[in-house]
Formats: sequence, C-alpha cells, structure tokens
Amino acid sequence: MKSPVQQLLERIEGKREDVTALTQELVRIPTVNPPGDAYEACAQRIGERLAKKGFAVEYVRAWGAPGDSDHHPRTNVVARWQGTGTGECVHFNSHIDVVEAGPAWTFDPFGGQVANGRVYGRGTCDMKGGLAASIIACEALIESGLPIPGALEISGTVDEESGGFAGVGYLAERGFFSKPRVHHVIIPEPLGVDRICLGHRGVWWGEVETRGRIAHGSMPFLGDSAINHMSAFIHLLETQLQPRLQGRLTAEPVEPPGARASTLNINSIHGGQVEQIYATDARGWPTAQTPAPVVAHSCRTVLDRRFIAEENLEAVKQEIIDMLDELKRSRPGFDYAVRDIMSFVPTATPKDAPVVDATARAIARVLGREPRYIASPGTYDQKHIVRTGQLRDCIAYGPGILDLAHQPDEYVGIQELVDSAKIMALAALDLTGWTRAQA
Ligand SMILES: [Zn+2]
Repeated sequence: MKSPVQQLLERIEGKREDVTALTQELVRIPTVNPPGDAYEACAQRIGERLAKKGFAVEYVRAWGAPGDSDHHPRTNVVARWQGTGTGECVHFNSHIDVVEAGPAWTFDPFGGQVANGRVYGRGTCDMKGGLAASIIACEALIESGLPIPGALEISGTVDEESGGFAGVGYLAERGFFSKPRVHHVIIPEPLGVDRICLGHRGVWWGEVETRGRIAHGSMPFLGDSAINHMSAFIHLLETQLQPRLQGRLTAEPVEPPGARASTLNINSIHGGQVEQIYATDARGWPTAQTPAPVVAHSCRTVLDRRFIAEENLEAVKQEIIDMLDELKRSRPGFDYAVRDIMSFVPTATPKDAPVVDATARAIARVLGREPRYIASPGTYDQKHIVRTGQLRDCIAYGPGILDLAHQPDEYVGIQELVDSAKIMALAALDLTGWTRAQA
C-alpha cells in the first residue's frame, strides 16, 4: 500500500494543469504597482477559490496607508483553514503586486501564455507562480483528508514591490503575523526550487541635502551653488566610501556573490529648478517654459545603502554623516541636512529553525538532493514579519529564477510549480504536527 505521503505527492502531480491554469489566471489580473491596479479583483479571486475549500476568508483593506484610495484600494486577503486540533499554524504569504511590464516583451505580459513548458508573463516568477503553488499545496492537503492537527493560512498581500507597508506591514501591526495565531511563515518568492532563503541584507534609504545661496546665474560668484557642494560629496562617495564598502564582506550566503559586500547606490539627484523637457521649434524658440537664471540653493540626493549582518544601522549612517562633517570643516560654505526615508536591519533565520529544517527535508525527499541556503541582497516582506510580527521562523522558498524577476519575458517553469507545491505541502505536514503525530 502507498504511504499517505506518497499519495499526497501523487495527488499534487495530478494537479499539473490546475497549477498552470491558476498561475495563468492570476497573471491575467494586471496588479501593476505603482499605482496598485486591480488589487481588489485579485484578492477576491484568491478568496473565492479558497472559501470553496473551507478556508475562512478575510479581506483587509489598509485604510489610510500610503497609496490607499477608493480608486486604488490596498486590499489584502488572508485565508485560514483550521485542522483537527491545536497544532501550529503555517502561513504562506505571497505579494500580489507586480512591477510594470516595461519594453522588449515577445509575449503578452498579461497573457499568461504557455510555451516551452513554462508560463510567461509579468509576475509569473515574481511571484504569482509561487502563490499558485502554495494554493495547490494547501488544497491537496485538505483534499487528502489527512488529520492535520494545525492550521493552514494563505495570504495575498499588496505593495511588496514598494515596501509592503500597506500589505504585510499593515497586517503585521494587527497581529496577523504573530503568535499565537501563526508560528511558521513561508514566502514563495522566486528563489529557486532547491534553495532556502534565510533572510536579507539591511537597508538604509536616506536623503542628503546640500545647501547654497541663491543668486543671479550670470553672476554665480555672488551666490554659492548647492550643486557644486553636492558634487564634492558625491566625489567622496565614489573615491572613498564605495571602495571601502567593496572590501567589507559578509559571512552570510548572499546570492549573487557580488552582493556579499556592502553596497551604495546613488538612487537619484536633483538640484536647482524643477526639471522640464527643453526643446526648440523650427524657429529656434523654446517650446516649453524656459528656466530662470539662478544659482541652486538646494541639491538633494537619495542614497540606497545596503548593509551586511556584520554592520549596524547607526554606524552605517554615521559613516556618511562623518564624511559630510569633514566637508563642512574643509569646504567653505558647505552645509547639509540628512533625512531618513526608510530602514530595516538584516534578517537571518537560523538554519536549525523548524521552518528551515522542514523545508530542507521536503526538498531532499522531492528532488533527491540537499538544499542550498542563501540570503537575499534586497529586502522583502520578511522584514515586517520579523520586526513587527516578532516572528523569527520565516523563510522565502518558491519556484522561479530570481534573475528573471522584473525582466521582459519573465516566466516560471511548470515542473518547478509542481515540485515546489509538493515541497510546500510536505513542509506544512511537518510544521502543523502531522508528521510527529504519526511517529
Ligand atoms: Zn517578489
């Protein structure tokens, strides 16, 4: 006789078309962020499907959160299925938003076309394929009739691509990602079917403003250009800070390896008057309003500093402030301000945490090889679950190739959808206490 686990795996194998069709269906709902289109339709679709399987479904709109409006409601869906006892709860969290399609597609970005054993479209890999796989995994568990002692939860949340404040951040503040409700979280981001992502680097986004003195642009010597001051600061970033960061390496398994060093990106810069598109007509006359001649009294730049587990946030900021202070001492007229935009410290779930262990054993069983452990260069919703939810038993694990995220002709492999659904189902059996109850 086949074991219950073998039967469950075969049941999921039989859902190959179902997981493909569900991925296609989700991709055809264009939940583009910004601005946050079609969130409600997508949340409803997930909720309706799960309600049919016996999930209790809640829709949680992030009223008043950044971006929320009647035109673009930030609607999240959280669904819970309670098993036979008081075992622990495993939660699968996927973001439903996708980034804009951008140019250079050969497939319809919102068509969900199947070709070459793959589903193509924006969000197939990041991360509607992962969402579909987690739904199929839970549906198979419920249909199997196995006496699962714990609870299964699935959420579809908004705005991950823009920080997750109206999504997982909003829900975490309301207890959706904390004990005693939830014990283990798997985020099916596209890290690859045999890789477990333990956490991510830290991030500090800050705005630095340099200040000058306004004057007539034909007599710049009467003013003091904030842009020239900014140029001196950026010169220091390029010649001192960035080389220093390249030599600062983490012991965490960040992928790709280039991101094992600390990094700094100069995200944007703006100085002087409001930018316009300047052009002239056939006569050589300006076609838009022309600028007025002034020396810039303000210049602002947004810095995106990613830091490693071996650094701390205060030191990361202080290092930049020290450079600005040095300029203030050495450069006549130099003045500055620094504003925090957003920060999150690095997260790293220990390798022996229950969710890591259960997923590793499921990968070995389904794929016949040991998992690889990685960390992510950028943050994702794990940051809210750890910081606000105070829940440490959290990983990212899901189908798809990370490098394809946000690219043209993004796809997810159908075999990966099936394999990852099997792995998620086995991990959930362990984490809800079913496996232990059999022993
Ligand atoms: Zn994602």
